[in-house]
Amino acid sequence: MDNIENTEFPKIGWSAWHCKCPRCRKGDLFAGPIFSFTSKKMYDNCSHCNLHFEKEPGYFYVAMFISYAFVVAELITACVGTYIITGNDSSPWLYMGVALAVTLLLSPFNYRYSRVVLLYWMTPAFKFKPSYFLRSVNNREKSLTKTA
Ligand SMILES: [Zn+2]
Repeated sequence: MDNIENTEFPKIGWSAWHCKCPRCRKGDLFAGPIFSFTSKKMYDNCSHCNLHFEKEPGYFYVAMFISYAFVVAELITACVGTYIITGNDSSPWLYMGVALAVTLLLSPFNYRYSRVVLLYWMTPAFKFKPSYFLRSVNNREKSLTKTA
């Protein structure tokens, strides 16, 4: 227990950006990197603290609404940016193309970070618990001393 005061824990922003488990901030939420064509898989449980990420059936449907807010913000930004850069206010095809490209390119980001926002900031039950962060470290140290 004396480790808790001396240990430097990962910050919430760093953990969220790196898609770590919200409770222990050690285990990964996703199996692969963000822009991967092979795997979009999200783990069911944390590999370190065994937290079950899907709190209840249909829990991740809420992430769909967060993703919707992300897309609206991205489209407004992209279309205003396109107008500022090109000055074009007559071609709908330019804006349709930009909107489609932005939506497709950022869909992996929206998928991932809508779930991260849901887990980190909209689920009070999934607060960071330093004991879970330390538990895996202590267990690893114990197993190392046993084998040595
Ligand atoms: Zn965890």
